[in-house]
Amino acid sequence: KFSNPHRLGFGSSNPTGKIPLGLKRKGLRIVVTGGAGFVGSHLVDRLIARGDSVMVVDNFFTGRKENVMHHFGNPNFELIRHDVVEPLLLEVDQIYHLACPASPVHYKFNPTNVVGTLNMLGLAKRVGARFLLTSTSEVYGDPLQHPQKETYWGNVNPIGVRSCYDEGKRTAETLTMDYHRGAGVEVRIARIFNTYGPRMCIDDGRVVSNFVAQALRKEPLTVYGDGKQTRSFQYVSDLVEGLMRLMEGEHVGPFNLGNPGEFTMLELAEVVQETIDPNAKIEFRPNTEDDPHKRKPDISRAKELLGWEPKVSLRKGLPLMVSDFRQRIFGDHKEGSS
Ligand code: NAD
Ligand code: UDP
Ligand code: UDP
Repeated sequence: KFSNPHRLGFGSSNPTGKIPLGLKRKGLRIVVTGGAGFVGSHLVDRLIARGDSVMVVDNFFTGRKENVMHHFGNPNFELIRHDVVEPLLLEVDQIYHLACPASPVHYKFNPTNVVGTLNMLGLAKRVGARFLLTSTSEVYGDPLQHPQKETYWGNVNPIGVRSCYDEGKRTAETLTMDYHRGAGVEVRIARIFNTYGPRMCIDDGRVVSNFVAQALRKEPLTVYGDGKQTRSFQYVSDLVEGLMRLMEGEHVGPFNLGNPGEFTMLELAEVVQETIDPNAKIEFRPNTEDDPHKRKPDISRAKELLGWEPKVSLRKGLPLMVSDFRQRIFGDHKEGSS
């Protein structure tokens, strides 16, 4: 009843199934929800380059047309303005579900994580598509286990200021597993740790984008709390590679996708100073409520089962986003902007 073309290794667009082996990855119809956002647009670039047909579904809540504009006119690319909280009818082979108001200043306002995920699972069920959920390290809350393994159930405040995001993603994971067990939908779950790179939202309040924009604008770097809390920062190309390996592989997950290199916020500020402006000042601000004290992925599972590990260190990756930020903030094409 729940036949899925991927079990046989070809797209459902082919009724006979007789696609030569070398071509089996060509011509997949792939939906990327949130594809006009930061991570989604980099994923779209890779899928298009691989020869797939990509439908981006995005309501431009935090995403931007500019992120995918270079594909306009390509017959393998479609951009659909749609809020995934509303049902959606498409015929597709794979769904990368990224749509989500991802940053603290945005995520409080939206039921995307629950209703949007339910709709995309309903779509996957109806057409027999494989569904990949981009969950988050936030499902571990303020973790009592360090580094975090996928087997850890987390330490999350259900009524706190961050709950809408972390509990939303936990519910999304639950729905995903329910559709897998109950309706036979092929699913994949990625738990993404803090990721940075070109096309990140400039003003959405995340720490890497804040520091880089502040240093470029000659403003002080705002360190919240004492700056001793830690995060592990992953460059976006490493994440995209991990997401694609997960989708193509045989394992449901969840898989931690992150860079185990762990930094305090003060250390991050130092790397930003080294990279952009050694004279950048640091200014301390009160921290937000329920801020996780530390976070670092244990990626043994992804290493073993997906053959994946990140390749770009923070010191190598940070300069790669600076030229993009400089160009977007100052609109110039001078030194450093490629
Ligand atoms: P982003 O804000 O750049 O991208 C999210 C995209 O979803 C945007 O283009 C936005 O317009 C779109 N969107 C939001 N609500 C929508 C809706 N209701 N209908 C249709 N589109 C909608 O964020 P990102 O960093 O690219 O995050 C992508 C995914 O990865 C998210 O699910 C996020 O939770 C997850 N994630 C990201 C990080 C990170 O550090 N970047 C960490 C953990 C998890
Ligand atoms: N859905 C969708 N596109 C589809 C199929 C379903 O958006 O192609 C939505 C549907 O509107 C519903 C949700 O996905 O709100 C869950 O669908 P499902 O069929 O699993 O549940 P049911 O409709 O039976 O409650
Ligand atoms: N942070 C900071 N200065 C900023 C923005 C954030 O020191 O300008 C801190 C924040 O308190 C948190 C860490 O950086 O401890 C990471 O915050 P972010 O919102 O980027 O990611 P998340 O908390 O979701 O991991």
